[in-house]
Amino acid sequence: MKFNIITIFPQIFNSYFNESIIKRAMEKNLIKIKTHNLRDFTDDKHKTVDDTVYGGGAGMLMKIEPLYKAIKKIAGKKKTTGQKIILLSAKGKKWEQQLAQKYSKLKNITFICGRYEGVDDRIKNFIDEEISIGDYVLTGGELGAMIIIDSITRLLPGVLGNSESLSDESHNKKGILEYPQYTKPAEFKAGNKKYKVPEVLSSGNHKLIEEWKEKFKKNQKNN
Ligand code: SAM
Repeated sequence: MKFNIITIFPQIFNSYFNESIIKRAMEKNLIKIKTHNLRDFTDDKHKTVDDTVYGGGAGMLMKIEPLYKAIKKIAGKKKTTGQKIILLSAKGKKWEQQLAQKYSKLKNITFICGRYEGVDDRIKNFIDEEISIGDYVLTGGELGAMIIIDSITRLLPGVLGNSESLSDESHNKKGILEYPQYTKPAEFKAGNKKYKVPEVLSSGNHKLIEEWKEKFKKNQKNN
């Protein structure tokens, strides 16, 4: 799976992607992540990527020409199957695990990270999806691209050590959350209170443990 990211702040990605699971997925060649500086697709000496808004209004908008050039160069002229171009946008379709599962089957995703007051709306002619990571406004699309790349990468075969851990994870099935989990010690004291791990979990009785986990899933369904 290849991820391309069009941004005016390519450095933002270095820290997060150079740690832990994403870093290992890159080292194992399971994913490739390439950032592209939008300013490299401008023609003027100031490398301008934004301009004022037609009809008035606060702030600046990202210009269409550099974005079009970047998309053409990075994603190619022809639409191919297995490829998607995503604009990060507070107005887009809400990102969720079921979309992560669907998009994990793709081969190539290009992200456009907006900044300022957003992007000239003619961008819609050159993208496949507008995606929001939640009902709030961020200063830029970079965090959204990171979140989407992270949630897709951990679903790819070979990325997680134990792929079984995916099947019980929260949201793997819509509306179902993971059961509570505990580690040692079995009894934890804080002040004069004791906090115990549910006894069934150390009973060694796998049938009872499975029933306990299932009960949690059922209760969540009813909430
Ligand atoms: N004026 C825009 C609006 O009201 O919808 C907000 C622009 S925001 C300050 C700048 C950029 O951040 C957007 O173009 C988008 O790329 C990104 N962004 C902001 N909120 C986002 C969200 N909830 N999900 C995904 N991207 C977001």
